[in-house]
Amino acid sequence: MIVDVHTHIPTHENEVPDSEIKLDTSMKSGITTKLTNSVRDYLESFKNVEKTFVFGIAPRPWKPKDLVLGNPGGWPKNFNHNDIAYKLSTYNPEKIIPFMSLHPLDPKINDEYDRCVGDLGCKGIKLGPNYQDFPPDCEDAFKLYSRLEHDSLPIVFHQGTSPISHAPLMYASPQYIDKIAMAFPKLKIILAHLAHPWQVDALSVVRKHKNVWADVSAQFYRPWSFWNGMRLFYEWGVTEKIFFGSDWPITTPNETIEGLLSLEKFAIDHHLPKIPNSEIQGIINRNAIELLKMS
Ligand SMILES: [Zn+2]
Repeated sequence: MIVDVHTHIPTHENEVPDSEIKLDTSMKSGITTKLTNSVRDYLESFKNVEKTFVFGIAPRPWKPKDLVLGNPGGWPKNFNHNDIAYKLSTYNPEKIIPFMSLHPLDPKINDEYDRCVGDLGCKGIKLGPNYQDFPPDCEDAFKLYSRLEHDSLPIVFHQGTSPISHAPLMYASPQYIDKIAMAFPKLKIILAHLAHPWQVDALSVVRKHKNVWADVSAQFYRPWSFWNGMRLFYEWGVTEKIFFGSDWPITTPNETIEGLLSLEKFAIDHHLPKIPNSEIQGIINRNAIELLKMS
């Protein structure tokens, strides 16, 4: 069973018109990535995956039109990112699990929470405190964590650096997650991207909290950083707490699987210690749904 815990909403419901295609070279440090995509692209990319978590990122209430990965553009005007995640899930409800994204400083947060969980069937939440510019340990955020812990809904936190200059880096540090996990021990948390390039910080937090995991998305195209992070997780005995994730559309699940399998060759080619294949297979086939006790 392959569960991809980290996928972003497509920018368009239908095919992307040529005039709206957007390319990016900052996300993958010089490698060109297509940022625009359709529902068909999404379904095609996840053919070999059993389950996906999909989400947008809620904008800052003081800049509601300024979205992190640009404006999706190709969806009905009255849709927000949560409507898009839900609508995408209707194309394959067995596979695609919508996650909401909210902003702790949004005065209407509780109404949108109720709508997402009640009407849209969202099963978790994505937060990017750096992109959303809120301190992860602020009072309003703690109120949200308390609800999520009570409702047993997992959080995928963006962790680690990003090329977006207005996103405060310190808010993406695993150090905050330690504080949150201590205050909410039953809250289920996934640290995205092994918190790259702070994989050491990520494993330090993951190892001490039963309900904190990490996802392996967006690692393989920086092979030295990837091998280091994975080897450190292995030495500290926490590879079992890594979930599979692709960060689609930045990478596809197939590329991510290939990247994970290529770690062995990387170790041989560079005379480095290996990460046992059983650990790699464990990550690819880990059943996040079961471990997160999602219904
Ligand atoms: Zn992401």
